[in-house]
Amino acid sequence: MSGTQPVDGETHAHDGTEDRVVDALLRDPATAGSIERIARHLDEARSVLFVTGAGLSADSGLPTYRGSGGLYEEADTEDGVPIEEALSGWMLGRRPEVCWKHIARIESACRGARPNRGHEVIAAIGERIERTWVLTQNVDGLHRAAGSRHVIEIHGNVYALRCTRCPEKSRVPSYAHLQIPPYCARCGALVRPEVVLFGEMLPPAAVERLERELARGFDVVFSIGTSSLFPYIAAPVVAARAAGRPAIEINPEPTAVSAYVSERLRARAAPALEAIWRAWTLGASPS
Ligand SMILES: [Zn+2]
Repeated sequence: MSGTQPVDGETHAHDGTEDRVVDALLRDPATAGSIERIARHLDEARSVLFVTGAGLSADSGLPTYRGSGGLYEEADTEDGVPIEEALSGWMLGRRPEVCWKHIARIESACRGARPNRGHEVIAAIGERIERTWVLTQNVDGLHRAAGSRHVIEIHGNVYALRCTRCPEKSRVPSYAHLQIPPYCARCGALVRPEVVLFGEMLPPAAVERLERELARGFDVVFSIGTSSLFPYIAAPVVAARAAGRPAIEINPEPTAVSAYVSERLRARAAPALEAIWRAWTLGASPS
């Protein structure tokens, strides 16, 4: 038991977990058996893939994009177009100020966010199981910040910027001092973040790396905090099951892959990962 007690909402937002939630997961017969089996899978695993989405970063206080309390709960933006159009490659080309305003809003929601216990547990598992990979849809960079080394940011990273004309690239710690939209200091053309906008292709290097690692296969696949609507996000889970390997889902809600997984924890990411960590490393059921 870590002994840390949440004192207010702030503590939850940064840590993403509380002892009483973790204890409940380890005690509740509906989840305890599942967590124990997951711990035994990790005992035997020599490779693990974590597929992650907005639900993991939500425990760091980041809003999800859709759904209640989401960044884009409304059907249309104030610019009179759906968010999918505002955040599209087409809009970046035609009306960069509109596209960039919404990109900056996403960055503003990420700003100051720190990795939560879920990110930390994933990084710590990566220290013990050498071939651990993370496939994330999150553009907030929190997996690397937590210390994960093998991360495929399939939708890019909001802090990586590049010129739309010349080879100029940069990384910024935040957009705090960025003029929106930003223009290239070298050639004056529009600068864009290295994120995948709606209607754009996935980054070829990331796709290649993903395909290479999937071809090698994984002993265990986790799907965490994602509705798995994109085929390339659902595919590793489906492939694991087809190969007779365990696939584990952590999500409070049912998703597109719920029917395929071998273990399903209906819980938030950070406390569920902490519970798995304790069961694996301490063999701990709470006394
Ligand atoms: Zn340039």
